Formats: sequence, C-alpha cells, structure tokens
Amino acid sequence: MVKYRVEVDKESCIGCGVCSSLLPDVFELGDDGKSRIVEKYRVSDDESKSVGEVGEEKYADTLNQVVDSCPTQAIKVTKVE
Ligand code: SF4
Repeated sequence: MVKYRVEVDKESCIGCGVCSSLLPDVFELGDDGKSRIVEKYRVSDDESKSVGEVGEEKYADTLNQVVDSCPTQAIKVTKVE
C-alpha cells in the first residue's frame, strides 16, 4: 500500500492556515499557531517538526497542492512503500 510521509517544518511555518484549509483531514493549527499533522496520522510532533504518515491514496493530489501552496515551503511529502 502506498503511504505518504508528511513533514511540517514548524520553524518555517508562519501559521497562515492554507494547509489546514485545503486539507483539514491531515493538517491543523496547534496551540502554538503552527501547522501540525492531525492525531489520526501523526507519528511525532515537537516544537520544531510535526511528522505523519498518510496511507490513503485519495489525498495524493491534495497533498501535492498543499506542498505547492505553502508560502514558506514548510511542508515536505515523500512517497514511501
Ligand atoms: S501552509 Fe505552510 S506556512 Fe501556512 S500554516 Fe501550513 S505549513 Fe504553515
């Protein structure tokens, strides 16, 4: 099954909310005002980085759109098997 590893670099994130608006099933804004991966997909989360694994093909196109739409290139998506 295809999986996507999703990383948010919180140091680059400016909390604009574009990612959580485009794909609220995967991204949310935390108490610190920075983006993070929602609990369902979260693998780790600290003050510098939030990491998740999304095993659902249906989000593939939107994940790419989110990567392109983040104004600070804070989001990285890698395909893993
Ligand atoms: S789109 Fe980028 S800068 Fe905006 S909240 Fe999401 S990760 Fe942060």
